[in-house]
Amino acid sequence: MSEFKKPNSEVDFENNFAQIKPLMTDNQAFYESSRCLFCYDAPCVNACPTGIDIPLFIKQIHSQNTLGAAQTIYNSNVFGYACGKVCPTEVLCEGACVYNHQEVPPIEIGRLQTFATDKAIKSNKKLFSLAAENGKKVAIIGAGPAGISCACELRVAGFTVDIFEAKAKPSGLTVYGVAPYKITNEEALDEIDYLQKQFGFNMYFEKPIFTLEEIEALERDYEAIFLGIGLGKTSELNIPGEDKAGVHGAVEMVEKLRMAHHDFSVPKKVIVLGGGNTAMDAASESSRMGAEEVILAYRRGKDEMGAYEFEYDLAKGVGVKGVFNIAPVEIIGNGKVEGVRFVKTQVVNGRVETISGSEYIEPADWVIKGTGQAKQTEFLQLISGLKTDTKGCIQVNAETFQTTNNKYYAAGDAVSGGQEVVNAVANGKKAGKAIIKNLSDQ
Ligand code: SF4
Repeated sequence: MSEFKKPNSEVDFENNFAQIKPLMTDNQAFYESSRCLFCYDAPCVNACPTGIDIPLFIKQIHSQNTLGAAQTIYNSNVFGYACGKVCPTEVLCEGACVYNHQEVPPIEIGRLQTFATDKAIKSNKKLFSLAAENGKKVAIIGAGPAGISCACELRVAGFTVDIFEAKAKPSGLTVYGVAPYKITNEEALDEIDYLQKQFGFNMYFEKPIFTLEEIEALERDYEAIFLGIGLGKTSELNIPGEDKAGVHGAVEMVEKLRMAHHDFSVPKKVIVLGGGNTAMDAASESSRMGAEEVILAYRRGKDEMGAYEFEYDLAKGVGVKGVFNIAPVEIIGNGKVEGVRFVKTQVVNGRVETISGSEYIEPADWVIKGTGQAKQTEFLQLISGLKTDTKGCIQVNAETFQTTNNKYYAAGDAVSGGQEVVNAVANGKKAGKAIIKNLSDQ
């Protein structure tokens, strides 16, 4: 049973979605930074996909050089604030901190990172100088973490960068997809605003690129094109009843909630299908929006879920009930969802088998599908010579992130199939470096 009441105001919403990694005070940051051992060959740095010099920025915070700390962070990761809040630090930098071996809490690296970058953003501190314009233009499709990271790299080297974004706001999943208790819309957008002022890339919103004519126009006008398009809509389950009112994709549901806040309503009983991090987010958020009962249904055992353990713990902590080894067979109801017919399953030699005669109906008002997102295959097929792998992910060179069409580079979820924000930032930067090198050689 959920402990949360439906939020009726923005204040209620903020209370229900209180930040799990709140900003540190100056004193907290000073104390926490004093705990760092400044390890030689620091394991926390090796565990960070963007390779931030963590002991250096912690030392800078401790010596009251907070803007220097922000510079250190932003040199490696332009989403320094967002990553401090949304990264799964438990399994990355903080998970690698040497204190874990001594059964002492690891350094709160994420919160220190957010502390330092917050000071730079709030003071609008200029940390980067840009090379003179070199007259070369790069188009970026998608203003998410990969695209903006690539854009910043290119701007420092003097390239003109135009970013085309299908949605009304920048920052991709950080605004539209991450659970609101990890980062607020304002925080995510303030960092992008800071970056835009700092690096001067151009952003065009509600400008989706999806026709052959639009692609050909970009190819004519730009020396290189970067694809940071992410993934598409939630995949179909292909079971009867999927078209009933009250069946939602997890990413679509989270996006609506993040835009509407307390104006978004969740009914009394919700079933979330899936065992990944997106399913956990959708389940947690349903509970925090006041659903009385939220069931997370997964077709394999608990230990086989793709979600991080701490994400499942977060969901359980707000009353979500996990039910394992069940698979949906049919969504039932007269026009709208009234329940899900499940069958019990067992895993035999790694394969899920259904147990005959074990079907039952679980009543529900909503079904949320957290079972993966489709790729943007139709769009990608319009680009000449661009190859995708068997899962529909864009094939790239692992070092340069150049695709099989030399003019195009790509990174982020459209390449990985779904990773963390920090991976998209890291790889967008590598693509930016490769574009600079390749276009400078011409
Ligand atoms: Fe500091 Fe922990 Fe990194 Fe060592 S591993 S440098 S103690 S944060």
